[in-house]
Order: sequence, then structure tokens, then C-alpha cells
Amino acid sequence: MRPAILFPLFAPITSLPGLGPKLGKLAERLAGPHVVDLLWHKPSGVLDRLAVGSIAEAPEGRIVTLTVRVDAHVPAVMPGRPYRVRCTDHTGLMDLVFFHIKGDWLVKKLPEGQRIVVSGKAERFNGQLQIVHPDYYGPADDLAGGSSAMPSGSAVEPVYPLTGGLNPKPLRTAIEGALQRAPQLPEWQDPAWLQRTGWPDWHSAISRLHHPESTGDVQLDAPHRQRLAYDELLANQLALALVRWHQRRLTGREIRGDGHLRAQVAAALPYRLTGAQERSLAEIDRDMAAPERMLRLLQGDVGSGKTIVALMAMLTAVESGAQAALMAPTEILARQHAESLSPLCAAAGITLAVLTGRDKGKARAALLERLAAGEIHILVGTHALFQDEVAFRDLALAVIDEQHKFGVHQRLQLAAKGRGVDTLVMTATPIPRTLTLTAYGDMDVSRLDEKPPGRQPVRTVVMSADRLEEVVAGLPRAIAGGQRIYWVCPLVEESEQVDLAAATLRHATLHERLSDRVGLIHGKMKGPEKDAVMAAFAEGRLDVLVATTVIEVGVNVPEATIMVIEHAERFGLAQLHQLRGRVGRGAGASTCLLLWSQPLGETARERLQVMKETEDGFLIAEKDLELRGAGEVLGTRQSGLPEFRLADLAQHGDLLATARDDARLIIERDPELDSPRGQALRVLLYLFERDAAVKYLRSG
Ligand code: ADP
Ligand code: MG
Repeated sequence: MRPAILFPLFAPITSLPGLGPKLGKLAERLAGPHVVDLLWHKPSGVLDRLAVGSIAEAPEGRIVTLTVRVDAHVPAVMPGRPYRVRCTDHTGLMDLVFFHIKGDWLVKKLPEGQRIVVSGKAERFNGQLQIVHPDYYGPADDLAGGSSAMPSGSAVEPVYPLTGGLNPKPLRTAIEGALQRAPQLPEWQDPAWLQRTGWPDWHSAISRLHHPESTGDVQLDAPHRQRLAYDELLANQLALALVRWHQRRLTGREIRGDGHLRAQVAAALPYRLTGAQERSLAEIDRDMAAPERMLRLLQGDVGSGKTIVALMAMLTAVESGAQAALMAPTEILARQHAESLSPLCAAAGITLAVLTGRDKGKARAALLERLAAGEIHILVGTHALFQDEVAFRDLALAVIDEQHKFGVHQRLQLAAKGRGVDTLVMTATPIPRTLTLTAYGDMDVSRLDEKPPGRQPVRTVVMSADRLEEVVAGLPRAIAGGQRIYWVCPLVEESEQVDLAAATLRHATLHERLSDRVGLIHGKMKGPEKDAVMAAFAEGRLDVLVATTVIEVGVNVPEATIMVIEHAERFGLAQLHQLRGRVGRGAGASTCLLLWSQPLGETARERLQVMKETEDGFLIAEKDLELRGAGEVLGTRQSGLPEFRLADLAQHGDLLATARDDARLIIERDPELDSPRGQALRVLLYLFERDAAVKYLRSG
């Protein structure tokens, strides 16, 4: 149960002053549903009234504050294109750029001829300065005259990321309201550590966050920023440590195979395992044979061959007389795993079955019966495996593919279906070390850092979408040569509806231009429909597969050699890497075409450059972290890694390792969090909504 002291912070955000139901909705979308979410809504910069610059001198890539005159409004020429507001000062021209503007509220907000103050990240595009979605804009008089949207008194005022329709003033009022509700909380940090670092207490830190006194106060290394980041990281690490401690406390079992099934499968394989696969397998074998429970992460880039390692591990469980389960995040993947593993299982004379949410009625009942009787040795499936009716005769190993799509909690849920179940989680996202820590704590890790032999590098070409016509014109030849093509359509941040419309439209044009052997697959389709399309592409009945990002994870079609990604500038690096990994899986040479459209920001440009330069997943992951530190979170959200509100891993990475050690020490000394500091740490866990972790405590 959440401690009463935190109740005010978990009241609905709509209860804050300044926000009615309508603005409340916007604030909720911006920050989250609770009062506390607004406390975490940190300033993106400060408006320094004393340091207002000029257009000509504005440093690129930095937050700037400018006083300018509104000259003209240039509405979007077509949907998806930006709305521009032309501005000038005595040194030059600048555009304010907005996307998805409906109605004329901008005209009212920024009347032509008015002098305004605007703050946001300066970018250069075609040589001209622009600010895309400014953090702040309003009449210049507001600032000079003291009737500012923000309380006056200090020369420096926080500037917050906004969302269309929610203006600085009500947002600011609401944040002040949230601060007033923020209680003095018991200190959860070690006093000696606080003294050493000189960090303020939580309440002072959060107040300072929203009342910066200088530009230095919004820097990530300001003491209060470090304190808040550390709080968040400690909550993360402590939660993971609790789960792990809990899992370790449960006894495991010794699982050993005699190798007879493995030998049969190895004989049926058209290849030999790579050194990295053998090494990982040996690590897994050792863990499984040990009396403790295995909790191991198998990390390997797309195409590195994780599936066969998983099968071999599952065979050990079967050889020992028990069962194994393999869980995938999507229906398509579950079916694909089953398809590729079934012949191998057949060669070894054992039974593999699939269970997804789609299986219903008699067939499902019969499957469950066979599972409970132990006639099914390996069960492959989706979330459906969690269902209560799914009971094994003797589950000994749970393998979870693409783990970061599942929560820690779900992992435990599957493990609870057996006795002393060993867990192997697999991820295709090559995660930088720091991120591995946030997502998995100090789980044991095996890395497949060697690709199966014979893979050809993928040629990556970055080009403007203006050349789309050329690309389309080149396809018939490729198709005639037997190549298969993925065509990924834009990810539009606004709505799935628009997303879908774009893909449907592209499908229609390609269909018309090429042949009827062009398929379409998207997230709104029902499972069987998706599978049918995917199967048609895999079997070569379709030459082109137009897709929204549903093909993101794991799908294997070795004959696909061309990957076209539209609006590549909108994807995160991790996602681009995943998508590109769909090609280059067979013997043929492969190409990845990254088509970009304006506006192409600096970070997006760098991302595309990284893609062009390397295929090394780990390197890309490091770059991703670096670039995302620059403020673009699309990549994280897509990759499903935990998102931090206050910590910036590129900047606070060193704090993470400290938090891990701290968490470990806390658990060693006070595993039930009973001591006074332990009690305060419980408050910390609840504050950062790690409620599930508290459940592992005896008196949780
Ligand atoms: P991922 O790690 O992305 O899940 P998969 O397990 O799907 O990769 O393997 C990708 C492809 O590589 C599959 O077609 C698989 O049969 C093949 N493969 C796996 N291991 C080897 C190997 N040692 N030698 C050759 N091909 C392999
Ligand atoms: Mg896979």
C-alpha cells in the first residue's frame, strides 16, 4: 500500500489549480496522470531576460531566447508539412516551425506585426535559423512589463516543454500547485553520502528544479539535478535488486541433460554453432546444472542466432524429463519460432506446440490437457502462456524472447508455473552497459558477439524522399532478379490512424506501379490476417511487403534483400537498426534505403550518418544513448527500455553504477527494508511507482 504521506502527490493531475478538465487532459498527455508527474516535468531551459540574443548570433543546437517580430504566417501546404511563422529582428530572418497545426489559433496567438519573445532550440535549415516547436513564445511586453506568464522576481525563469493548446501560464500555475503539495519526505539517502556530495534534501531539490536561480541550475550536473537523478536511479536499482533477491531466495533445481536430443538436433542442422553460440550455451548449461535458479540474459544482435541457443537449452530441460516454454512478444514471432523449431524437434522425436490468444475452444482445451500430461515437451507462445489455465506437468525452463517488451513482473509470472524454474531472457537490442543495468539490474549476461558465417554486409544508402520516384522505378528490375522488398512506412507521432493512412496509400501506389504481388501489413490487422500476409511474403507469393513497424521484431525472411524506410528521420537509431536487420539474412547482397524528408533536424541527420557508417549493433547502441541525451526520446520509447524522468543516462551514467552498489548493500544489510532508512526507501520506491517491487517484502 502506498504510504499516506504520498497521497497528495498521487491525486489526479486535473485537481491542480490552473487546470480545468480540458487543460487537465493536455497536462496529462504532457506529463502523466498524477500530480507527481508534473513535479517530474522538468524545465527544458531557462528564459534569461538579461541574456536575450539576436538571430544572427544564435548558436545552433542550443536553447536560445530571442525577441523578434512576427512577419507572416505560412500555413502547411499539405498535411504532414510544417506550418511556418516567419519572424525577423534587426539581424536577420528566422522561422518558427510547427507540425500538426489545426485551425487558426496560432494566428491569434502570434499576430502579424507583434513583437514576441520566443525560446527554444535553434536549428539551421537550408542556411536559415529555425526553432521547431518553441518551448516558449509570447508577447514581448509580458516579459518587460512584469505581467509575465511566469512569476517575476528573478531574472531567470524556467521554460517548460509544452503541448499544443497548453500555454506556459496555466502550466506554471499547476506546477506551483504541485510544489505546494509536495511533502517533506523522510531522507532515504545515506547521510554520509549526502554529506560527501553536498546534495540538498529531496524537497529542496524539487523546489530548486522548478525555481532555477541561474542558467547553471538547469544543467544536469547541478547538485539538485544530480540528487533527483540519483533518487530515480536508486529506486530503479533497488526495485530490480529486490526482485532478484526474491528470486534467488526461492530454491532452484539442478537440470542436466544427457545430450541425446541435442545430438539429434545438431545432426539435423545445416550448419555448426558459432564459437559465441557454443560459449553462451556452456554458460547456460552451467547455470542450469547449478542448484540456484538461473537468471540469464542472452544478448545478441538481430540475426546472431539466439533461437537455436534457446532450443538447445530447452532440449536440456526435456532430456532431464521436464518441459520448457518459449515466450515471444507477438503472435507472428511465436508462430515463426514454432515453424522453424518444429522440424528440429521432430528430428529429435519430441513434441512442440504453439499457444497464443487466438487458440480457443476444443483445440485449446486439448492442447492444455496434453501440456498438463507432459505430452508436449516444448510450448511456444505469446502472453497467452500467462493464463491461469496453462498448467505444465513439470516446467523447468522459461525462455523469454525480446524480453524488454515484457515487464520484470511477467517474467516471474511464467516462472511461477513450475518448480525452481530457470529463466533465460533474450534480447536483440544490443544495449549499452549502462542501459543493461537499468533494464536488468545485475543479471548474468551472455553475449553473442559473432555473427553466423557467410553474412554479407548491408549496403546502406541515405537519400532524400524527393528521389522516391527513382527508387520505385528501380524496383521492377530487382523483383525480376528474384529479390524481395520490405517497404516501411512512416511513424507519425500523432495517431495510428494517420500512420495507417500513409501505409495504405503507399501500398496502393506500389500496387498500381508494380504488380498485384504487393502486400500490406499493419498493427490494426487481426492476427490471422497478419500471419497470412507474412507467410505470403516469406513464401515468395508477394514481392513487396508494405508495413508499418509491425515487422520490427525478429521476423526472418532470408530472401528479403531490400529494405526501404520512409521518413527514416522519424525513427530512433535502435529501431532503424532493428529494421535494417530484417535484410542481409540470406546469401544475397542486401540494401537498405533510408529516405528522409524535411524537417531534418541535426540529431536526425547524425542518426542517419551513424546508420550509414556502421552495422555494429553495440556501437549503434552507444551512439543512440549519446544522441538521445540530446533530447530525442523517440528511440527509447520504441525500444521499450525503462524511461527515466529525471536521470539522463548519457550524463548520469556514473551515478547508475553507484546506485547499483548502493542497492546491493541495502539489500544485504536490510533485505526487508525494516530499518528507519529502509522505511524511507519504501517511500522512495512508491514515489517512483515501483510498487510491484515492494510486494516482495514480507510486510510489503
Ligand atoms: P536472432 O538472434 O535474430 O533471433 P535467429 O535465431 O533468428 O537470429 O537466426 C537468424 C538466422 O541465422 C536463422 O536463419 C538461423 O537458422 C541462422 N543461424 C543461426 N545460427 C547459425 C550458425 N551457427 N550458422 C549459420 N546460420 C545460423
Ligand atoms: Mg529472434
